[in-house]
Amino acid sequence: RDELLRKPDWLKIKLNTNDSYTGLKKLMREKNLHTVCEEARCPNIHECWGARRTATFMILGDTCTRACRFCAVKTGMPTELDWAEPERVADSVQFMNLKHVVVTAVARDDLTDGGAAVFAETVRAIRRKNPFTTIEVLPSDMGGKEENLRILMEAKPDILNHNIETVRRLTPRVRARAQYDRSLEFLRRAKEMEPTIPTKSSLMVGLGETKEEIIQVIDDLRKNNVDIMTIGQYLQPTKAHLRVEKYYSPEEFEELRKMAMKKGFNHCEAGPLVRSSYHADEQVNAAARQ
Ligand code: SF4
Ligand code: SF4
Repeated sequence: RDELLRKPDWLKIKLNTNDSYTGLKKLMREKNLHTVCEEARCPNIHECWGARRTATFMILGDTCTRACRFCAVKTGMPTELDWAEPERVADSVQFMNLKHVVVTAVARDDLTDGGAAVFAETVRAIRRKNPFTTIEVLPSDMGGKEENLRILMEAKPDILNHNIETVRRLTPRVRARAQYDRSLEFLRRAKEMEPTIPTKSSLMVGLGETKEEIIQVIDDLRKNNVDIMTIGQYLQPTKAHLRVEKYYSPEEFEELRKMAMKKGFNHCEAGPLVRSSYHADEQVNAAARQ
């Protein structure tokens, strides 16, 4: 197939260019912080930074040691660890008056601990300054090492999120340096370490997977005791990235959501614009009602 698929209407959302977040964006530059909301040009930024009071920070630098073929983060040799970053994130969470914050990070395969110590310190710094903000962490597999995951879990985030991203067959193509089974094991271990902390994972669809393969992911996540799942449409960030093989309709997403809920998740968000951190505040509440 040579021609690109046409974007369906439900994805043609109008971005508000006359936005009211100039001040917050300036704060991010001053504090040398990165948010996925801005860098992925997430279409939900107005809803999230506005009424929902939620944001996703990306720590440990803006350069990743991996090069997943769906992701727009740049690849290369990362910068030195910045031990002052946790406090700056905590200050920004306070300034933005966030109810819920997601902290994610580039994969730091150059570090033995995969960045776990700074990650854990960021959770603690946010908690000290913002005792009422719920904190969700979204790490890479941190080299698949149990001790790295333990360092992070000991900081007691409110949700441990780790994305499976795609089905088993497509994993080597989509995220070559990760492994499907290692991600499942990561999620299972997190639950074993801290059974009261809800676990969560996200799947992108539109990369050429079959329905049976999606069902397999749903089953595999449930088998590994994952509590919350999100399913969203893959969108190609640049021409150099994998192309979209299929646009799922809102009805197809709803069907997937219902199927996931039947299989026993506490909460599932599915839809064309659903991102890993979308409506995350509601997911904490759902998890708390368990
Ligand atoms: Fe940021 Fe996630 Fe909201 Fe997008 S969905 S604006 S990345 S918090
Ligand atoms: Fe992007 Fe994460 Fe993959 Fe790095 S590990 S390329 S940040 S998806």
